[in-house]
Amino acid sequence: MRFLFGLLIASTTFAAEAPRLVVVLAVDQMRGDYLERFGPYFGEGGFKLLTERGANFTTCHFQHAMTVTGPGHATILSGVNPNVHGVISNEWVDRATLLKGNCVEDRTVSLVGLAPRVGRYRNPTEAAKAGRSPRNFLGTTVGDALKARYGAAARVYGVSDKDRASILLAGPKADGAYWTEEGVFITSTYYRPALPAWVTEFNATHNATNSFGRVWDRLLPAEVYDRVQGPDDAPGEDAPAGLSRTFPKRITGSANRPSGDFFSAHDRSPFSNEQVSAFAQRLVLEEKMGQDDVPDLLAIGFSQTDAIGHTAGPDSHEVMDSYLRLDRTLAEFFQFLDQHVGLARCLIVVTADHAVGPLPERVIAERGPGAAARVTLDGLNATVTRALNTAFGPLPDNGVWFLRDGGFLVNQAALQAKGLTSAQVQAEIKRCLVTQPEIGPVYTREELLAPTPLDAVGELMRRSFHAERSADVVYFLKPYYTTNKVGISHGSPYDYDTHVSLMLCGPGVRPGVHTERVHVEDLAPTLASLLGLQLPPEAKGRKLF
Ligand SMILES: [Zn+2]
Repeated sequence: MRFLFGLLIASTTFAAEAPRLVVVLAVDQMRGDYLERFGPYFGEGGFKLLTERGANFTTCHFQHAMTVTGPGHATILSGVNPNVHGVISNEWVDRATLLKGNCVEDRTVSLVGLAPRVGRYRNPTEAAKAGRSPRNFLGTTVGDALKARYGAAARVYGVSDKDRASILLAGPKADGAYWTEEGVFITSTYYRPALPAWVTEFNATHNATNSFGRVWDRLLPAEVYDRVQGPDDAPGEDAPAGLSRTFPKRITGSANRPSGDFFSAHDRSPFSNEQVSAFAQRLVLEEKMGQDDVPDLLAIGFSQTDAIGHTAGPDSHEVMDSYLRLDRTLAEFFQFLDQHVGLARCLIVVTADHAVGPLPERVIAERGPGAAARVTLDGLNATVTRALNTAFGPLPDNGVWFLRDGGFLVNQAALQAKGLTSAQVQAEIKRCLVTQPEIGPVYTREELLAPTPLDAVGELMRRSFHAERSADVVYFLKPYYTTNKVGISHGSPYDYDTHVSLMLCGPGVRPGVHTERVHVEDLAPTLASLLGLQLPPEAKGRKLF
């Protein structure tokens, strides 16, 4: 009896210390090995706060194959993969209209906070395409579950410099999502008809244009970066938006005043993360986040690390310095949280939407020619068309569509006149693709929807496959192959793209280094359990504590 009483006391005590604010930081492209690699150069109170006081999962992977931003962010706080949440990629082609749409595109809403002639949207069609909301997301986030349980008393917000990061992390029931466009924070009519006065004021004083002409140089001596990463100017690096391939870099976009190229240079500089962090702090104050016993959720996407990783690769001085600077930005942010909420009442998570592989030039230098390649798929469509014509005779023009990013659509209606089924055409496309030197695993819709188990990549692809939105034949390049002419991309099912950082710190977290294999899909069920919330049964991940 006494023992039982003790248990009751213990659980009451835990409830009193339950988190008031959940802060989920999605660091775009943060590989699973960066903490170890850059850890010795981190300062106090940033990433170290989590590695010293929290749980660090060193072997955390995504379980879906198409490892890009939209699907990653949609998975982090829903605990389900694209086969359930429907965000199969950053963009996909609608089968009925054959038009490509962005994963957070919504033509029924419009942007809020952009002056009419600012930016790229100068005619009604473009403006309609620019509307953003979570309408295409078919999942339920931890934020949605908080809103379902506590209603207006729980505050849920997403903040990022990328629209899809803030929108998909926050979820459909969020109070708001803010992201940057042309240097200022905006939202859409999905959330509210006008910007709050404090956002307008923030934009006036913290506009990205304040950083015009600022110089980004390394925090530490160049030799430190040489030792950890190799030389600053490595073969295969890109230098877009007027940026130099080496330090120091002047952030102007090669223009005399802020223009499109300046904003894209700014997105590739640490000043972008600093602006996001400043906005998030202001939001905590203005929206009174973490001020009462009903938990609130703030999801923040830091995307600058992705832009830098794309141009210079994971082994660059640029990536290392952007993590050292993000570490300082986080230290300042955590100090702010301590002051205004109390760190003991914050549950902090750091993870990523996907990782990235090395530049092919680096792989070739280490493992020899053939271990990696830059390829073009220019001839692929013609090769497949020839194979189909040989097998079936000439097909109607609109019979098969080549989608550059990894797939073919088969138009069953157009092929009916020839008496062909989609399955026959899919099989022939696959037969042709697997003979191509640059192509790795290939799967057809028939295979992905059948109950038969597939190989490991096939099972990852099953979780990336949504019957209404996905192509009929999907393929991946061979490991370390890329279609990028310079720089690097991600999106493959290979370990270097699926292995990301995962750290948690706060009430209910078992601190320490955890080396067992876990999945990003385990995070949402874990948070739901720590917060006493229900997620839909499709969120099958295991609770980490
Ligand atoms: Zn990316």
